[in-house]
Parts: sequence; structure tokens; C-alpha cells
Amino acid sequence: MPPKPLILFAASEIYPFSKTGGLADVMGALPLTLHRMGVNTALITPLYGRLSTAGVPLHLLLTDCPVGYPWPPNTADIYLADFHGMPVYFVHREEYFDRRYYYNNYKGDYFDNCERFIFFSRATLEFTKHLETIPAVLHVHDWQAALIPAYLKFWSMVDPYWKNTKSVLTIHNLAFQGRFSSRLFWDSGLPKAAWNMDGVEYFGDFGLLKGGISYADKITTVSPSYAREVLTPEFGCGLEGILSKRSADLSGILNGADYEVWDPADDRYLPFTYTPGQIKGKMRCKDNLIQELGLDPALVDKPLLGFIGRLRRQKGIDLLIEILPELMKEEIGLIILGEGNQIYEEASLALMEDNLGRMVSRVGYTEDLAHRILAGSDIFLMPSRYEPCGLTQIYALRYGALPVATAVGGLKDTITPYPARDSTGFTFDRPNPGQFLQAVRLALSIWKQPEVWRKIRKRAMMTNFSWEKAAEGYIQVYRDLGVRL
Ligand code: ADP
Repeated sequence: MPPKPLILFAASEIYPFSKTGGLADVMGALPLTLHRMGVNTALITPLYGRLSTAGVPLHLLLTDCPVGYPWPPNTADIYLADFHGMPVYFVHREEYFDRRYYYNNYKGDYFDNCERFIFFSRATLEFTKHLETIPAVLHVHDWQAALIPAYLKFWSMVDPYWKNTKSVLTIHNLAFQGRFSSRLFWDSGLPKAAWNMDGVEYFGDFGLLKGGISYADKITTVSPSYAREVLTPEFGCGLEGILSKRSADLSGILNGADYEVWDPADDRYLPFTYTPGQIKGKMRCKDNLIQELGLDPALVDKPLLGFIGRLRRQKGIDLLIEILPELMKEEIGLIILGEGNQIYEEASLALMEDNLGRMVSRVGYTEDLAHRILAGSDIFLMPSRYEPCGLTQIYALRYGALPVATAVGGLKDTITPYPARDSTGFTFDRPNPGQFLQAVRLALSIWKQPEVWRKIRKRAMMTNFSWEKAAEGYIQVYRDLGVRL
């Protein structure tokens, strides 16, 4: 029997090995879901110094895989892990990936990010030559892996090895484009023919994501609404032109949630578990969270609001900070967990000082606390300016923390806003302080009607954004490329 077509995922993060955000969650779930549905999948990612092996042993598979970048003799070592039966390959090159952080330190982006991910992209392609099966599809994610389709396009013209390999680019966030000086293009090993407006050039710079958009056979975004939004100047981040040119090959597939990790019925980070039908545990989680964070115990009978996310303008943290003094006039508790822009970190800490006992701001990245905040909160705030998909609101729904969110991108695709009959949360149209405050007040007023609240919460907890459904969407994309799955 001929081997099953191989779909090789290439991405710079995969949970539980590495994570800065939603990309890692997707990579930890989608390839594995496809694998469990009978698709032959594997994943390739960098081996970071701060990598968590998550208890999975890594084996050295291959030494000195030729990469030829930035100098001809350069090579990578490849490690292999068995991740629930699916191979995960790690590209190891100490000077590029053995660092404390993934892409930046407190001073800013690493100066050699372009070289690091050119190296990763080239190593990925070279490594495919060592696989038993030639990949039918290279499914690459975000700017860090977006040059792979460009190399594939040009290298397959001279090397028939990849002649039947197709590429898919998934954009998780168009704002991160991997835009670098043109100087770096000339050493990348891409031919001169790639240096034009329909290639990797972006207003005189070397655009890695731009390259992926130009050369991938298919492009997807992580929600249908975002796939439409990116064609407009408001959300296109300057790439709306090239995306519009490629619109026949562009589609949006909503992410799923990994309910093996994110389910209050079975969550190892929670002191108590609960289900839509057996909600008592949620109250206990709230009580516990209030104690854990040193909040006023009386808050257990008041609405508790949570915010978890990168403290960046995208997430609307500035809007929350702006409305906070007004919001705290209500009888509520508020918890913020996040890290990011120092201005917002400091502002949220200062506001905590003004609202001691009723508000807590935790600056940092704490996976287990995120779970407990979702379980302990009544309301989850997500006033994003744009949201390619957003996973946290999907988790919030499952944990019965009703979202108050901007009606944008994936938020629009996952929350049915009150007062619809089948509502699961609250949305507002424009990301401005007035509309946000009004929406939170609406949620607070509904919270005061326990019967109505319970009904909405039950519905929210029963929503199911399964990865199987998302995986079906990707299978269709691969089939559209002629892959027989
Ligand atoms: P994005 O990928 O844009 O950051 P998503 O909502 O898609 O946003 O995914 C964010 C993921 O990162 C979620 O799993 C969320 O719980 C987690 N997360 C974000 N910030 C923190 C934090 N400070 N501590 C713990 N988890 C966080």
C-alpha cells in the first residue's frame, strides 16, 4: 500500500513544549486531532533553550542536516519526540534558539530574528529529504515559517524532489509580519526573481509573511470573519492588497478549543471541578480564587470580572485601564493577568493600589492561574481592537465566565450576543471606552437577574468549538490542493 500523504506542520511554537500565545495552543491541538482522525501528520519547530520537554523524551535523530545558511557549511541537528503517537521534530542550532526568550527580551526583538527564521525555514525543507515520505503538504504558520512556501516554490523548480509538495500558510495574526531590511534578502538564498511586489518585497523591505502570502498555494486565517476583515485597510495591516489578489485561495477556518486541557469538569489546575449541570464547584473556585489573590472575601457574592491576555493595544487593555476608575464604582471585583507593554503593566499595578482588596493585577505569564481566573470569574473581558480568532473567550465560555467582547473577528464568530434568544455573552461594535463600559454595565445588570444569568451561562458552557470541526475544514483545503486523504 502506498504511504498515506504526509502533512508536515511548521511553526515556531507548540504547546506544551513552547508557548507565547494562541499559536502554540493551535499547534498543540490541530495536528494531533488530524492524526487521530487518520491523517498522517508531523510537526517541525525550533528547539529553544527554554523549551519545556513536558515529560516527553527527545531523541537525537539526525546530526549535521545541511542548511547552508548563513554560510554553506552550516548545519542543524534534528531531535524527535513522540507526541501522543505523532512525530514532532525539533531543529537545534544553539546560537539561534538557545535563548532565554523566544523572539525578544525586555529590550525588544532579537536583532537576528530574520536570520533565525530563515535558518528554521531552510532547515525544515532540507530535513524533509530525510523523511521516509515526501510531504504532500507543508502547512506553515505565521511569519516565522512563512518563507517555507517561497523556498518551496523556487527550489522545486530545480529539484524535482518537491515537485508534488503543496504549501498552505495559516495567518494567526496579520500584525506580526516579520518585516526586515532588504539587505537580509540577498543572503537568504532566494533568487532575484522573488524580489518584487508579488514576491517578498514589501515597500523596499524583506517581508517574510508577505513571502508566504505570495507563494503559498492556499492561505487560511483562523476565523471566517477575520478572513473577510483582512481584505480591508482597517484590518489588513498594509497587506490587504496582496491578500485581495490572492482572495480566491484565501479562506477562514475557526480554531477549536482543546477541551482536554480546557474543561472545568476535568482541570488539574482547579481546586474544584464543575459542569453545566453541577455548577457548585464554580462557586467554590470563585471563593478559592478570592482567597488566593487576597481579595475581599465579601466579593464572593458580587460579580467577579477577569481579564487574561497580552497587555497590548490589540487586546484593548488601554480601554480597560481607561474605564477602570468608573467601573470600580460598581460593586465588583476585578482580576487582570497579563504581561506586555510596560506602560500597561505599570498602569494596572497602580490601579490595583487604588482599589486594594477589590482589584488584583498580576503581571506575568502563569498558565495555572489563567485556568483558575476563568473558573472563578463571572464575567470575562476581551475588548480587543481586532481578534484573528481568540481562544481565551472560547475557554471563558466553557468555564461559564460570560464574555464581554468587541464584535470583531473570531469574537464575532464565537459569541452570540445578548439579547439574542440563544445568547452566550455580550458584545459591542466599536472598541471605544464608552461602548465597552456600556456593555459591561449591561452584563452586570443581567447578572443581577440570576435566572436569566444561569440560563445564558449554561448555554455558554455547553458551546462546543471542537477541533474535529476545524480539522474537517483543513482536510477540505488539502483536498482542494489535490491531496487524496
Ligand atoms: P493571542 O494568541 O492573541 O495572545 P488567544 O486568546 O488566541 O490570544 O490565546 C492566548 C492564550 O494565552 C490563551 O491560552 C491564554 O489563556 C494565554 N495567556 C495569555 N496571557 C497569559 C498570561 N499572562 N498568563 C497565562 N496565560 C496567558
